[in-house]
Amino acid sequence: MFHSIRWRIAITFVVLILVCMGGLSAYLLHFVKDNYLDNLRMQLTAQAQLVGDASEPYLDSGQTESIDALAERLGNKISARITIINADGVVLGDSEKDPKTMENHSGRPEVIEALSSEVGSSIRYSTTLSCDMMYVAIPITVDDKVAGIARVSLPLAEINGALGHMNRMIIGGTGIAAFVAILLALQISRSTTEPLKKLTQMSERIARGELDQKIEVTSRDEAGDLAEAFNLMAARLKEMVTLLTSERDKMAAILSTMGDGIFIVDSGNRITMVNQAAEKLLKLSEDEVVGHTFIEVVRDYELDNILQKCLKAREQRTGLVETESRKQFLGVIATPLGSGSLVLLQNLTELRHLETVRRDFVSNISHELRTPVASLKVLAETLEEGAIDDKAVAQDFLHKINIEVDRLTQMVNELGELSRIESGEFPLNLGPVDLSEVVRQVSERLRAQAERGGLSLKIDTPPDLPEALADEEGVEKILVNLLHNAIKFTPPSGSVTISTKVEGDSILISVADTGVGIPADDLPRIFERFYKADKARASGGTGLGLAIAKHIVEAHGERIRAESTEGKGSTFTFALPLAAKP
Ligand code: ADP
Repeated sequence: MFHSIRWRIAITFVVLILVCMGGLSAYLLHFVKDNYLDNLRMQLTAQAQLVGDASEPYLDSGQTESIDALAERLGNKISARITIINADGVVLGDSEKDPKTMENHSGRPEVIEALSSEVGSSIRYSTTLSCDMMYVAIPITVDDKVAGIARVSLPLAEINGALGHMNRMIIGGTGIAAFVAILLALQISRSTTEPLKKLTQMSERIARGELDQKIEVTSRDEAGDLAEAFNLMAARLKEMVTLLTSERDKMAAILSTMGDGIFIVDSGNRITMVNQAAEKLLKLSEDEVVGHTFIEVVRDYELDNILQKCLKAREQRTGLVETESRKQFLGVIATPLGSGSLVLLQNLTELRHLETVRRDFVSNISHELRTPVASLKVLAETLEEGAIDDKAVAQDFLHKINIEVDRLTQMVNELGELSRIESGEFPLNLGPVDLSEVVRQVSERLRAQAERGGLSLKIDTPPDLPEALADEEGVEKILVNLLHNAIKFTPPSGSVTISTKVEGDSILISVADTGVGIPADDLPRIFERFYKADKARASGGTGLGLAIAKHIVEAHGERIRAESTEGKGSTFTFALPLAAKP
């Protein structure tokens, strides 16, 4: 409480008032007392003079025995004690006591003083009357010679009573004045500190983020000026915060919609900010990134090296990094930002994959074309060189030429079909399809081929399989391709099973075989055009069947996947939407 300005002002005021009033009272009491005593002294001096004048004839005539009676008479009249003393200090008369019993008064201070100057006075305790008294003595001169001393004295009890009353009045008055002064001081300090209190409350609210604060300016004094300045400051602050917030929101929107990962790293290598793309790229949450060092988060020495070079040289550094841990191919740009750096990571993995696919596609297509074209050329040259004259050989060669031309035609047809599906020129003819029937027909078509290969072909479809909403011709194409592959890649005495089941909103169709399987490295790529796991290309296919199947399934809004264990077999599963939703 006493740390507040209000109380400090109030207490200072009160102490000041008490000191002033105390000083003033002490001075007043002293002044009044002095005044009283001076007046009394003057009064007693005048009376002593009269007493001196009255006793002078007695001293002059030597009738000292009548002096005591005179003293008593005069004392009664003026209600004071009167003592008349001769020049040797012998008391000749006293209004209160028998002079004969009184000791010599030549040693009394007022007497000594009166003899050396005109008037002598003293305040002391009277042993005769047992109280404080004021004594005033004057010399009585007869023929210019001191014949005696007239002394008048009064007890101070009365004065002390009057002074005591005065004291009480002054102390009471001081008390009341001090009390009023304290109330006033509290009021003044309250009105002085009130605006400060309001300012404090407003500052606290602003600190909590409530920026719409305004103090009412009620006075034109310094507190009013302060309130006005504060209102101005609060308004400016709001403007600035609004501006900064909108800038920050813009930045946040840009950063969150950016496809590239952004990190802001401080000079101590700690990440202070990341965007969503960066979190996605590293598959980490913001908590696992912000506050950690860059190397801790990216866990790649090469990547960190680019940042370190940028931090050291304070220049932009770029690079391409293939991360070991995440198997990602990243483009890195580290740019100095303040004392730290801004690191941008571009995920080029997909781009590089597409590039590989494109390269492989070109090399595959040329390979696929080269083989039949080369055999055609050899066959044609051999015929030209004379084989045409041998009818049987010519027949055989022409048959072979026919097969190669068929292969080329199939490839060209499939490529055309694929590009039509990809470019959307192959509209799906959607309708309810009885998949059990399609499965049955397709397996009948390929059963002979399976049996030739020594394989058993099984169908596992539930009797009440609901209809799918699909393009029947497309579904047939997918099934033929999958079944054809399964038969092609399964050695004799193996089996191929086609099964169907309902799962959620879809029907799942699987073609499983007990064949050679697909190496794990090839598995993710078998749906690419011309991609063949069988590197010797002994199977004789075009490498386009799965790519076509994938596109048809995806055109239905569904997916196809392959699972395989090398040497044990493969299972291809694709989904089709149900005609009637459950
Ligand atoms: P292809 O005309 O060569 O059969 P696909 O696109 O149908 O072309 O298949 C691509 C490659 O996937 C095949 O060359 C083969 O290596 C592999 N493959 C497909 N189905 C199977 C399967 N059932 N078993 C083993 N390998 C398969």
